[in-house]
Amino acid sequence: MTQSLDPGARRAILEAVDALRDWSVTTLAGLVRCPSVLGQEHSALEEMARLYAGLGLEPRRVPTLPEQLAGHPGFSPPLISYAGRDNVVAVHRPRASTGRSLVLQGHVDVVPEGAADMWETPPYEPAIRDGRMYGRGAGDMKAGIVSYLTAFKAIQLAGLQPAAEVQMQSVIEEECSGNGALACMLAMPKSDAVIIPEPGPGLDALYTAEVGVVWAWVTVSGRPAHVRDMQAGLNAIEAAQIIGEALKAYEREMNDGSRIHPAFRGVNHPVNVNLGTIEGGEWNSSVATRCRIGLRIGVMMGYTAAQTRADVERIVEQAKQHERLRGAQVKLEFKGFMADPCVFDTEAAIVQLARRSYTDVTGGSLRDYPATGLTDGRFFALYQGTPVACFGPDAVDIHGIDENVGLDSMHGITRTIALTMAEWCGVEKV
Ligand SMILES: [Zn+2]
Repeated sequence: MTQSLDPGARRAILEAVDALRDWSVTTLAGLVRCPSVLGQEHSALEEMARLYAGLGLEPRRVPTLPEQLAGHPGFSPPLISYAGRDNVVAVHRPRASTGRSLVLQGHVDVVPEGAADMWETPPYEPAIRDGRMYGRGAGDMKAGIVSYLTAFKAIQLAGLQPAAEVQMQSVIEEECSGNGALACMLAMPKSDAVIIPEPGPGLDALYTAEVGVVWAWVTVSGRPAHVRDMQAGLNAIEAAQIIGEALKAYEREMNDGSRIHPAFRGVNHPVNVNLGTIEGGEWNSSVATRCRIGLRIGVMMGYTAAQTRADVERIVEQAKQHERLRGAQVKLEFKGFMADPCVFDTEAAIVQLARRSYTDVTGGSLRDYPATGLTDGRFFALYQGTPVACFGPDAVDIHGIDENVGLDSMHGITRTIALTMAEWCGVEKV
């Protein structure tokens, strides 16, 4: 255990965080302006490289190479090519390594904005209303990334630097595979702890557990006909609906109380099956030839992604026996998430320290959050044995319309990370 932080250094660091508040809001706005949806992450990645360089660190690109990752149990089948989308990392090295090393990790990718016309202000034009910043990715999780950057910068502004190695990792594809996080984790040395500032559900929170997720794609090819001979045709859209209903029945079954892990006690409906996308059909008066649905299936602790995949294969196979699917061709594919669930070790020293620091700087306490979605934290926890403190600011409507994050809350998280980093790594005078 390193010695506890000198009170003068502590005060100087927290004052520096306060002095950097405007900088952090401007930096967040700059990142939200990067529309970093799948395949379009380059502007956000370049911005991260620029921000790392601004801290005096040398940004380095880490490619995501499926051929190297494919044998890893955390790997998910890719959706698109990784060319031109390299992750960005930067490493701080102390003069004398006396403390414990740390990884600060965040994903730059965001989910699509959805119906842009439903947003009060455009999704990639950050706007502040009532102390909250609105914009796609503001909460999930660009605020968290800015929190750790500001925390590091504040330690520097206080005339100090961490007395241990600090890695910063900006990754892609947290929202669809996690392969960016996996690539960076494997490319970099193992550290003593990881902080991932993912957002809390409308309040400041610490992730205690997270479900796994499997993505599946079902393509049904029917038999086209004019609607006047509808009985002669086989409607692919209606057939796909039958498969969708079978998977919703599976969802009900998996939410039965007997199947729910204690970490999720009290959480309403933790295992979610989402019919996320549908495309198909050709003409209102033609029986639809082809329909493709994209699904996201939650995985409860006690089950694995591989088991869930087998369940989905079985359900789709059974649904094919339905009389309305007779003669249809059904193709089932698994691309994107093949992610196992994960319980975080909340007794770990980094978690305890983060909780203590949060209470110290805000007077409140971080709420426990068993998440019905996932983070990149699972890679470090499940496959590397590195303790993870995943906690972040109050964000609302992430993945929805008018996503926003509380700026006071973000500031509190920044203060928490600064203090946690200084205590964990120790500090040395520059
Ligand atoms: Zn996220």
